[in-house]
Amino acid sequence: MTSAPAPGTDAARRVLTDVFGFDAFRPSQLDVVERLMAGGDVMVVMPTGSGKSLCYQIPAIAREGTGIIISPLIALMRDQVEDLRERGVRAAYLNSTLSFEGARAVEERLVGGDLDLLYVSPERLVTASFLALLDDAQPALFAVDEAHCVSQWGHDFRPDYVGLSLLRERYPWVPRVALTATADSRTRAEISDRLLRSDALHVVTGFDRPNIRYLVGLDDGSAREQLLQFIEQRHPGAAGIVYCLSRKMVDDVTGWLRQRDIEALPYHAGMEPADRDANQQRFRREDGVVVVATIAFGMGIDKPDVRFVAHLSLPKSLEAYYQETGRAGRDGLPSEAWMRYGLADVVQQRRFVEDSKADEEHKRLEHRRLEALLGYCEATGCRRRILLGYFDDDPGDDCGNCDNCIEPQETYDATEEARKALACVYRTEQRFGAAYVIAVLRGRDDERMRRNSHHELSTFGIGANVDERTWQAVFRQLLARGELTPTDHGGLRLTDAGAALMRGDGELRLGRRQLSAGAGPAPRRPRSDAAPTDGLDAAARARFDRLRAVRLDLARAQGVPAYVVLGDAGLAALARDMPRDEAGLLRVPGIGKVKVERYGAALLAALTDAADEADSADGTDA
Ligand code: ADP
Ligand code: ZN
Repeated sequence: MTSAPAPGTDAARRVLTDVFGFDAFRPSQLDVVERLMAGGDVMVVMPTGSGKSLCYQIPAIAREGTGIIISPLIALMRDQVEDLRERGVRAAYLNSTLSFEGARAVEERLVGGDLDLLYVSPERLVTASFLALLDDAQPALFAVDEAHCVSQWGHDFRPDYVGLSLLRERYPWVPRVALTATADSRTRAEISDRLLRSDALHVVTGFDRPNIRYLVGLDDGSAREQLLQFIEQRHPGAAGIVYCLSRKMVDDVTGWLRQRDIEALPYHAGMEPADRDANQQRFRREDGVVVVATIAFGMGIDKPDVRFVAHLSLPKSLEAYYQETGRAGRDGLPSEAWMRYGLADVVQQRRFVEDSKADEEHKRLEHRRLEALLGYCEATGCRRRILLGYFDDDPGDDCGNCDNCIEPQETYDATEEARKALACVYRTEQRFGAAYVIAVLRGRDDERMRRNSHHELSTFGIGANVDERTWQAVFRQLLARGELTPTDHGGLRLTDAGAALMRGDGELRLGRRQLSAGAGPAPRRPRSDAAPTDGLDAAARARFDRLRAVRLDLARAQGVPAYVVLGDAGLAALARDMPRDEAGLLRVPGIGKVKVERYGAALLAALTDAADEADSADGTDA
């Protein structure tokens, strides 16, 4: 391909504006769309929220025939088909949730050329009966979503995906696109090998999610109160996810939040499936539901307007953290990833690894993953750099959108304290936990101390001048860095690195915020955009709220989620610009021709009502 305008790009642009209501393709989207319109293959690695679905939906609509979208996630199929139908697109899916008759009807539409897009599961696609249908149909393209599932090296291998390589042999003239949010170079090579032509275009953008702000702080026992404050002050009435480690914790936190008037709903594997699904549906369809969940929640959720993801327990790894926090802000609007953790979490995670039945090699890997996670948590510099660096992605500069960038942490040298702590662990024969060793350091002269004769140790009381919190921070750091590790009996022991530090090799620095809980910054509003309504004046904000209520009514009447009617960005633009007619509505992001037909009158009426109300409140004549 040369740089001459690719054929079909104009047709694709028309679909972008008429059907999806957007002005322009994002640069990487344009590359993908041009190549597919020209009949070529593409490999797409782009982070969540970057607009991967448009990359195949638009060529599927703009090209002759039916785009075949292969996806393993039933919930995602349903959501996308719902959204497309709402835009007047002829879309359907084939999966195990359909009745025999339902599936037959869809198959007839496929062969009759009556579908723009068909979503199908990989296991169904490779059946002889489906392939026979495809032979009689006209595929416009094949899109393989979650393409990393084809790779043995990837983190999510699915044997069904391997069969997809037959597409290349059977329909060599049909363009193909493979898409994923996470794939290292080895996984990419394997995807390309199995699914695409050798001259496929690779469109790989970084991992950064610039609209997500990272906020990490200490749990000193008040994490719940801090969470409540965070929600009330920064995300009132917004949708969010709170991750907890255990089912019991999920239930406790849900109850606690509900008592404080937060619309919280639980989600974990111990619940009745029907109750769980009902909660997931409410989260998806309504505006301000907070789901409190174990990590079981999230796969296949592509709700675009999740404004925050909170962790009340440490995630399993940085990969898991990236994936879980990545569920915030798919719509590109400012969103926040918030976490609280403490010494107990660190000890517990270390123990999980120590106790695992895995072989030594595997354990070492697990320890390294945990150290990377804890390194991120304990960082005093830009968090985004650490997170992206973990994926070999280089953001260049500090991000300006994490707690440590917004309020830089002063650090000081705590090497002396670290050595004392290690020496004291050593002198007490590596049999005790942090709380006891801290008591020895601080010289607590009590019954237990005397029974153990620890009041006679050389390290007894050598840290009396340092407060409890600082000692906890030191132990957390030593555990995070792998200089201390828990033993089977609830004690701590020195690793080789710990022994080296005790002997004088290395240093340890502490940040001031690592010492006190709650000091994690809650950046003030003006400095930060954290909500879609930021930047709206009071009158526009009132209009936004009114429009939001109208949107919910429209969504209920249609039986679709509120965001399918219109996203928050579109709603904010409506409230700000107050269009008076259809032409004005069409300029709002997310509103295309079909949406004007369906909802235009109701939205314009709501704006007129709001204006009238404001006028009469002013006492002026319109
Ligand atoms: P992904 O599949 O990569 O996670 P989505 O396809 O769900 O991302 O898109 C994320 C959000 O970005 C959606 O709300 C979508 O409407 C919006 N979006 C996608 N492309 C554009 C565009 N060209 N202009 C404006 N918004 C877009
Ligand atoms: Zn930063």
